Amino acid sequence: ELSNSVAHADITTILHPYTDARMHEQKGPLVIEKGDGVHVIDQSGKRYIEAMSGLWSVAVGFSQTRLRDAAAAQMEKLPYYHTFASKSHEPSVRLAEKLVEMTPENLTRVFYTSSGSEANDTVIKLVWYMNNALGRPQKKKFLARNKAYHGITIASGSLTGLPGNHRDFDLPAIPVVHLTCPHLYRFGQEGETEAQFCARLLKEAEDTILAEGPETIAAFIGEPVMGAGGVMVPPEGYWQGIEALCRKYDILLVSDEVINGFGRTGARWGCEKMGFTPDILVTSKQLTSSYMPLAAIVFSEDIYNVIADNTHKLGGFGHGFTASGHPVACAVGLENLAIIEEQGLMENAAKMGERLQAGLAKLADHPLVGEVRGTGLIAAVELVADKATKRPFDPVGKVGGKVFEYGHEEGVIFRNLGDSIAVCPPLIVTEHDVDEIVRLMGIAIDRAADWARA
Ligand code: PLP
Repeated sequence: ELSNSVAHADITTILHPYTDARMHEQKGPLVIEKGDGVHVIDQSGKRYIEAMSGLWSVAVGFSQTRLRDAAAAQMEKLPYYHTFASKSHEPSVRLAEKLVEMTPENLTRVFYTSSGSEANDTVIKLVWYMNNALGRPQKKKFLARNKAYHGITIASGSLTGLPGNHRDFDLPAIPVVHLTCPHLYRFGQEGETEAQFCARLLKEAEDTILAEGPETIAAFIGEPVMGAGGVMVPPEGYWQGIEALCRKYDILLVSDEVINGFGRTGARWGCEKMGFTPDILVTSKQLTSSYMPLAAIVFSEDIYNVIADNTHKLGGFGHGFTASGHPVACAVGLENLAIIEEQGLMENAAKMGERLQAGLAKLADHPLVGEVRGTGLIAAVELVADKATKRPFDPVGKVGGKVFEYGHEEGVIFRNLGDSIAVCPPLIVTEHDVDEIVRLMGIAIDRAADWARA
């Protein structure tokens, strides 16, 4: 039987990312066979609401035939060509124009990669190249935050601020300083207000810049609203303060919008929602709804000019990938963005986001729920062993894992980041879908509470 043969072949051949291998061998995979709007369907025919958009990435749902058609048409015409050494093709150019049009006004230039990790590696190399060209090679360090997720390659994984991604790999491997995660509930001090917390974090950032020496700090990178670390919205004024410090000390500001981009936070870009203007913006995931792998960095004319003017002095920007600006991926991206605009999906995300946040907020009284947080169509519900003291469950991850498991049984896919249960549904969700996600979250948490008591 097919389902058994796929499951068997899986456990005898594949090493899965972020998976307990021995447990996986015992339990076997959940084999997803089909997509249908906001749902995915497994081999037994069971339907799940995909409340995580896959990996925070499928804006238009799992069965958008226009993307299939765009890919097929481009496959027919020019399935592949590269963009090295002045080669070009229309899909990469049209999408670049679109990205420049859609991003903040100061961002005028595009570089393509296939993944968010490669995009952030490219950011690092772009900035280092620029500083080498400017004769200040010592200006190399990146400022990032604890709990940030910027990818998983050796360099982008170094920017990531999750100890689990560093431990066992001897990372960070590039000079990076991680600052406090801007999450009041977990990192605020006893009695601290949001404003006091914000002021403390900004002081920490400035003290760090001064202690390290501004002449050694190249860039600050952050997700406007943090994603994989547990969905954290920073305090009011935080991003304005960070932006001011970057300007004061000549530090480039990088907005990692791999999750935040294209309406996820309720605004077009996370940086617009948070009210700051980056020098470099990184996008991926919802760019193609992840039907094809594609990422892009969009950056300022000033950065471009330094690189362009120094091509001969330094030997050219010797960086790029076989699939940089892949024509099929770019054609799918263009069609995906057309759908997002035509169908008003960013506006829908803002509207449905309010309903989602309001619905989840009602779970805040549950004895297991420590905090409900989020903005737009991205949220998390953090479970705690003790509401009053915020004491987490021990060992961390188990109760969250139960909610995840019970979710599957109830027909919904969440993601547990430790004991924070994340929700990030496709931008096409309806009121009914949102209400269903909230209802099933409540059921899964109730069942986890029964399990924890037993
Ligand atoms: N940056 C952010 C904010 C992300 O959330 C991710 C992936 O989740 C990445 C970068 C890395 O992207 P990829 O998995 O495509 O390498």
